[in-house]
Amino acid sequence: MLPLVDLARGYRSMKDEIDKAIAAVIEDTSFVLGEHVAAFEENFASYCGCSHAVGVGNGTDALRIALRSLGIGPGDEVITVPNSFIATAEPIAELGAAIRFVDVDPRTALMDTRALAGAISPRTKAVIPVHLYGQPVDMDSVLELTKERGIFVVEDAAQAHGARYKGRRVGSFGDMACFSFYPGKNLGAFGDGGAVTTNNTELAEKAGKLRDHGRLSKYEHDVLGYNSRLDGIQGAVLDVKLKYLDRGNEARRRHAAHYGERFCGLDVTIPHVGADVEHVYHLYVLTLASRELRDGLIEHLTASGISAGIHYPVPLHLQPAFGYLGLSDSSYQVTEDLAGRIVSLPMFPELTEEEIEQICVAVSGFLETAS
Ligand SMILES: *Cc1c(COP(=O)(O)O)cnc(C)c1O
Repeated sequence: MLPLVDLARGYRSMKDEIDKAIAAVIEDTSFVLGEHVAAFEENFASYCGCSHAVGVGNGTDALRIALRSLGIGPGDEVITVPNSFIATAEPIAELGAAIRFVDVDPRTALMDTRALAGAISPRTKAVIPVHLYGQPVDMDSVLELTKERGIFVVEDAAQAHGARYKGRRVGSFGDMACFSFYPGKNLGAFGDGGAVTTNNTELAEKAGKLRDHGRLSKYEHDVLGYNSRLDGIQGAVLDVKLKYLDRGNEARRRHAAHYGERFCGLDVTIPHVGADVEHVYHLYVLTLASRELRDGLIEHLTASGISAGIHYPVPLHLQPAFGYLGLSDSSYQVTEDLAGRIVSLPMFPELTEEEIEQICVAVSGFLETAS
């Protein structure tokens, strides 16, 4: 079965370097935070064009720690999109703030900034734009709507390491930005990992404290925090993989262009890439004309030995965990419509031309007989 992501191929392509880096961490037993994490934090911040990166336990904690650093809590409202992974919204609720969803743009599946303009209220304390699938949100519009009102922006960049908006990498637009290094992400660790980036030294210090029990010194705790530190082994692995991130993203873009050429003229919509953005294709998402066609395509691909996914089949406002919000079907119609018609195809740097051809033949073969 051809997987959506093949982590083993990624590892093999840099095995010697990674093995050495892991052995070095074990030799000097710097297992939690430590010099390997510090080196990665510095390199990752500079890669993102930010002054600070704070390594944390995972991407969800990155969001939680960013919101806490900004003082978000009960009485505040945080705006985000229902077309995302649940981790985008979970920390908002957990901190006691109110979640306000806004729908997405039907072409990009990203935050609809006109809907954002209509949703901002005097209670709005922060906005979380999600650079979903590897494509940056229209940050000029987000910043224009938030800046003068004193609303914080926290980028969810968990799927977009290295993506650019108007030539600048994501992670440096918001007050803070959150990255996940879950193994399948464009920059993935060998376990869980995450980071918060910011250009604000005070916020970086707050985040650094919160990830480590609110520590001022070994036995002195300033605030209640978390145990959410990046491991030394993860820092060392990530530091090696960071050097190859641009090469991997370049390969993803090549594969996306190949897919796009082959799907041209078929009854499918290929990803729409906004003006002034560089997409890094964490996921390659096609939109079919109907739910029946989408479900049929997934069945056909599976029977042909090709994995396919749906990101995401259940919009956040319809998740049982968010049932308390009292939102029903048709609250966010664009997201709901897309959830029924999208499919993710295999996408990772080491995909071969032959495999892409095989996928394209399977997709076009199905669409030609189905319509
Ligand atoms: C993966 C992901 C997260 C959460 O990251 P974890 O490291 O799994 O906690 C948050 N937001 C989005 C959009 C993601 O894809």
